[in-house]
Amino acid sequence: MKITKIQCHVLLDPHYDIAATSSAQDDLVVEVFTDEGIVGIGETDLNPWIARECIEAPGTHTMDQGLGSVFIGEDPLDIERLWLKAYQATAMTGRRGALVNALGAIDMALWDIAGKAANKPVWQLLGEKSRDHLGAYASLQPEVSSFDAYLTSMVKWAHSAKEMGFRAAKLETTFSGPYANMGIREDDEKMTEVIKAVRNAVGPDFTIMVDVQYAFDSVARAIKTINTWQEFDLFFVETPLWVDDLDGMAELVANTPIRIASGEWLSTHYEFKDLIRYGNVGVVQPDIGRVGGLSEARKVCNLAKDHNKLVVPHLWKTGISVAAAAHLATVTPHMPFFEFLPPALCESELRKHLVVDEISMADGKVTIPQKPGLGVEINRDALDEFVAAARKLRP
Ligand SMILES: [Mg+2]
Repeated sequence: MKITKIQCHVLLDPHYDIAATSSAQDDLVVEVFTDEGIVGIGETDLNPWIARECIEAPGTHTMDQGLGSVFIGEDPLDIERLWLKAYQATAMTGRRGALVNALGAIDMALWDIAGKAANKPVWQLLGEKSRDHLGAYASLQPEVSSFDAYLTSMVKWAHSAKEMGFRAAKLETTFSGPYANMGIREDDEKMTEVIKAVRNAVGPDFTIMVDVQYAFDSVARAIKTINTWQEFDLFFVETPLWVDDLDGMAELVANTPIRIASGEWLSTHYEFKDLIRYGNVGVVQPDIGRVGGLSEARKVCNLAKDHNKLVVPHLWKTGISVAAAAHLATVTPHMPFFEFLPPALCESELRKHLVVDEISMADGKVTIPQKPGLGVEINRDALDEFVAAARKLRP
């Protein structure tokens, strides 16, 4: 089998809001075509116009190719060799960041092809089944523009998540720092107010995570605020400090009993090695596309296992990434949860409509995927609509 073409789809939610701290508003989806008629699907989480250039740009020498050209004519089943070839052939622009993020979408599509070719769900090619059900948590971030509306919506959504059967939810409570959602700016006590209101609403028998999205500008401030949250029995606090402040993270970890989670923006397992070695966080959070695809995410899982860390992948995209995470979770016993944006409890049209997938949740548990490949199909009408919306922004 040979790869004949890689097609990039830049997608945009027509109702996107530039004030939202939500990467679920746009998307890069790739389709990898083969001469045997099998087509693989992948997606990744970064600026999709930049991602497309990483794949479609030409290259003029051996150290800095465009990603796409590296794959044409190659055997799609030779995934490990192709990943390394692509990594090395794009190293001057790549090695980390956007180019590796884009490589992740292609890698995901290759695993989809491999599963379809073998007539097996991808997880059977990734490793040993380690469980019968998967734990998903609902990520909740109402997009409203006042604190009072936010508090009310969050409590309502947490309630709805519990009613839908979720046993865990993550609250995005970001009222300061560079990514205050919808421009709501409040003191740190307001974060506490949200967490307290939700804990009271859902009761004790429900797991709560909190994501503050880099809100704290100093370790002292993070320690002071987070330690007041001990009474709420949190599973972890995500990205309290800036992504590059590994020394700060280690200091925070040493001074709080609450698990600290980080890693959503990192690419390659090399960056996770540094996060574990220097940041010492309890939970690492690779985003499967962004880290470099399922191949690289699996390496992160192995690294975490060697260092007794939990893995809870970041996932703020469509059913394609949800499926990829479900396959990875199936073979990863130290992944107690994966992030799940419930279509009914998020604003993203992409999440709601882009794909038809088999992943369903009942009683807080997600079923193990059984269809060949990733098991997702693109809704072509929705795809066309999102492509048209993206073209309005950039023809
Ligand atoms: Mg986050």
